[in-house]
Amino acid sequence: MSADRPVRGGVLFALAEGLAPDIPRCTWKGATLPCYRVARGVLAIVPLPADEPAGTFTLTFDRPAGRITRQITVADHDFGRELVFLDSAHYALVKRGADVARDARALRAVLGAESDTRYWSGSWGAPVKGARGDGYGAERFYYRAADSSRAIRLGPELKTTGSFGLDTVVASSRDVPSWRHAGVDLTASRGSSVVAPAAGLVADVGSYILTGNTVVIDHGQGVHSAYFHLDTALVRRGDRVAAGKRIGRVGATGLATGPHLHYGIYVHGKDIDPAAWAAMPAFARDQGDAGTSKSKQ
Ligand SMILES: [Zn+2]
Repeated sequence: MSADRPVRGGVLFALAEGLAPDIPRCTWKGATLPCYRVARGVLAIVPLPADEPAGTFTLTFDRPAGRITRQITVADHDFGRELVFLDSAHYALVKRGADVARDARALRAVLGAESDTRYWSGSWGAPVKGARGDGYGAERFYYRAADSSRAIRLGPELKTTGSFGLDTVVASSRDVPSWRHAGVDLTASRGSSVVAPAAGLVADVGSYILTGNTVVIDHGQGVHSAYFHLDTALVRRGDRVAAGKRIGRVGATGLATGPHLHYGIYVHGKDIDPAAWAAMPAFARDQGDAGTSKSKQ
């Protein structure tokens, strides 16, 4: 079994080489993890989201010939903490708790879907040409613009309580709303084209309080990409999109302080750093003629 060097916020591509008659059952941290056949064997893609701790955990592939067990050490990473100052109109969005909770449930349902078919193959492109993105995993604390003139200290008692767009706001101590930033922000001018980085099926087109005009693409086998704060969506739910297909225009809708694309990658419903995803090894890129078989669970 080969594996790259796992780190919090990244993703582990674990390959069990060789083709067994049956796809094994895979587990991670003792829970079933969907795994799929690829050209060289069976692939388990393990999300290592920023909101789960570093440490050493067990990954298993159970096959008729026996169990393969590996201890995987997930290294720690400091994602940093950021202050965000909002004008009153944007700050009011944060306070719409019931609406934010409804949106979070809807997005979680979309991003948690697991379809057996894999729609994508090959390397993933960038959703906005030439734009650099950062900020994955940062804890963001939201203040009113009027607070920007006073000294604010982020003490250890301030903790984030969920991921942006997928969790209800729960004020941390001192009544400061916060979320972990579950994607990267790509700076681009309003109206810039947003394209699908890989092929997939449009799973959601919606307008939400925090994420604004939103598109979610289901790439199959538990992999989704999400695009927040769009000015305009150019696809409809159910559309099949090829890699490079234009899906929207950059905007600043929802909780955005200026035009940018928020780009998120979710694996089995959990967010990871899109930069880690784009660095996937060759054995994960192509399914070959392995079909769409999934482990029997
Ligand atoms: Zn963002």
